[in-house]
Amino acid sequence: MKTLNLFFAITLTFLVLSCSEKEPQTPVEKFGQLSVEGIHIVDQKGEPVQLAGMSLFWSQWIGKYYNYECIEWLKEDWKCSVVRAAMAVEHGGYIANPKEEMAKVEAVVDAAIDLGLYVIVDFHSHRAEQYQDEAVEFFGKLAQKYGHYPNIIYEIYNEPLNVSWSEVLKPYSEAVIAAIREHDTNNIIACGTPRWSQLVNEAANDPIEGDNIAYVLHFYAGTHGKELMEIGEEAISKGLCLIVTEYGTTEANGDGDVYVEETKAWYAWMDKYKISHCNWSIADKDEASAALVSGAHPQGGWPEDMLKPSAKLVRSELLKKHEEMFGQ
Ligand code: CA
Repeated sequence: MKTLNLFFAITLTFLVLSCSEKEPQTPVEKFGQLSVEGIHIVDQKGEPVQLAGMSLFWSQWIGKYYNYECIEWLKEDWKCSVVRAAMAVEHGGYIANPKEEMAKVEAVVDAAIDLGLYVIVDFHSHRAEQYQDEAVEFFGKLAQKYGHYPNIIYEIYNEPLNVSWSEVLKPYSEAVIAAIREHDTNNIIACGTPRWSQLVNEAANDPIEGDNIAYVLHFYAGTHGKELMEIGEEAISKGLCLIVTEYGTTEANGDGDVYVEETKAWYAWMDKYKISHCNWSIADKDEASAALVSGAHPQGGWPEDMLKPSAKLVRSELLKKHEEMFGQ
């Protein structure tokens, strides 16, 4: 009997020790299944959560960062809680090469699941209503394969042009949402809004029926300021949950200067409403919004001097967000 008690004592000690030495929690371990509650994205306990991370660049043009090691670097060194796969639709993207582009998306989603990150899958187009059948098929497949994981967030339309919410975007969104909901009843679906995902107030006047729907707001700090914040506030006051799946520290064309103070004003604004955000973009292109200098390694490991000014600003915000979230 004594031997048995000793055995249990040793086993218990071992269990306690191994628990205390386990890896730090990942964002998905901490927050679990997300949902939309009023204007907020909330975690599994119903507490508002603000994800922050990076968007990759158009998949067909700079697809080299769509790999496990890069996502792991964005988690470990940049402290992203979310990453965004910007799957190109046109210009040689999914419509022309569905298997190739789907494989890039899957590489990022599989990495995010393994690493415990949230992942936004973005149908990166300005005319997705012309590809509704393809969007329905794409998101149906994605939901069937990944809908049981808490990690995935569906962004069904990146940036519509200046088209009608009620006549064009709402019907498109409802068709794609129906395809997702056949397989995944609860993960968050982010809907693009008119005029490059700025006129969230139009969606607020005619929202979509159903649960766990968020609305996409995009800004570029050098071009958009107070006026766009007010449009966002109008939508929020009408109860819409917003998500900034893409923003830039630069002008709206992705280039020009980096607007530090203006970007900080947007951070404060998003913090106020606990709006999740992803920065555009992980790319080594010669433009100011691209995070990396030309030739930066596809698999991460970038030293400080490979980060461009926008990246330095954004990464320091991500480190701050991570510290608030995890206290480390
Ligand atoms: Ca689900």
